[in-house]
Amino acid sequence: SSPFEQVELQAPDPILGVSEAFKASKEPNKLNLGVGAYRTEELKPYVLDVVRKAEKKIFEAKENKEYLPIEGLDAFRKATVDLLLGPSHPAIKEARVAALQSLSGTGSLRVGAGFISRFLKGRTVYISNPTWGNHRNIFGDEGVKWEYYRYYDPETVGLDFKGMMEDISAAPDGSIILLHGCAHNPTGIDPNPEQWSQIADLCIKKKHIPFFDVAYQGFATGSLDADAAAPRLFVDKGLEVMVSQSYSKNLGLYGERVGAMVMIVGSKDVAERVLSQLKRIARAMYSNPPTYGARIAAEIVNDADMFGEWKTEMAGMAGRINRVRGELRAALESKYPGKDWSFVTSQIGMFSFTGLSPAQVDNMTKKWHIYMTKDGRISLAGLNSAKVGYLADAMVDSFK
Ligand code: PLP
Repeated sequence: SSPFEQVELQAPDPILGVSEAFKASKEPNKLNLGVGAYRTEELKPYVLDVVRKAEKKIFEAKENKEYLPIEGLDAFRKATVDLLLGPSHPAIKEARVAALQSLSGTGSLRVGAGFISRFLKGRTVYISNPTWGNHRNIFGDEGVKWEYYRYYDPETVGLDFKGMMEDISAAPDGSIILLHGCAHNPTGIDPNPEQWSQIADLCIKKKHIPFFDVAYQGFATGSLDADAAAPRLFVDKGLEVMVSQSYSKNLGLYGERVGAMVMIVGSKDVAERVLSQLKRIARAMYSNPPTYGARIAAEIVNDADMFGEWKTEMAGMAGRINRVRGELRAALESKYPGKDWSFVTSQIGMFSFTGLSPAQVDNMTKKWHIYMTKDGRISLAGLNSAKVGYLADAMVDSFK
């Protein structure tokens, strides 16, 4: 018989599977709060005006379709490091940044995982509990060992900072600590500046290597600079830092697969060698990255006017999400005053981690046709004012 006969059916992806189920539903009231993709107030996908403008420039320039170098487009790599560290950062002047354009956040994380499996062998990656579900797949598929550190406290619907510090402290020296740069997915709960500083000091003491997953720069506060504060702080404290960056959410370039794997290391010489190895990993994985999205991002970040327009649109997207957050909290408070709903507005970014149990999520989906992940996360980017009352009714019904 065929060897393929033995292949078992893989369960749908827990996040992307939600969108498939939503599409299949015929219910007029259905609402997709599963995937972390920005929607307009009309709940339509959004292409930024500044992206359209950059596309027009690119179209008119009639550039060719040759391969990019393995490390990607130079203008894009510069733009991406500038966005992360700020353009005048000393690490850039000292040329101790290795930056490889890669396939958005996921592909960058995968290249980073490949680097760990080759050059940081035997070290464990510590990921937050909970985290974005794909982290486990990405490190696991590269044969990198991972463990959880405590992060979320269900009692307070807040950060378990004490547990987090204890677990990072108990990890063997030289472990890799995966941190969400801002707007933690799925909880929407970030350490405060003082806590970040303590985490950085602990990494220094333990010789840990911080690995920042920066997938939502701009979506926590609406400011691209403010949202890079944590990785900048770690670099400024002298840590060598690994970073994966994504333009999926903040430039809305989801399907174009635009991002980078960046490593800020101790010297120019090390940076050159590190980049050479990142290139070797990428070469075998996908050879070289796609051109189109990188040109768009580079046009925007490297042009003062377009960069300004982007910042305005970014603040608009973050502002719309914050507005529906406030409206949702108010609706919940009026429909069910007995419960503390303050978490809805203390959480930040695209998501709210509601504390709904898997059975309650089932009620949300089966009875109310609200599609969301089983962990109780809702994407507020998929909510508008018109649907706030309906969502609040469903949540109150499911909690009661
Ligand atoms: N990291 C986190 C925490 C995410 O939430 C996501 C997307 O949902 C990603 C990385 C990667 O996304 P992409 O590969 O589209 O850049």
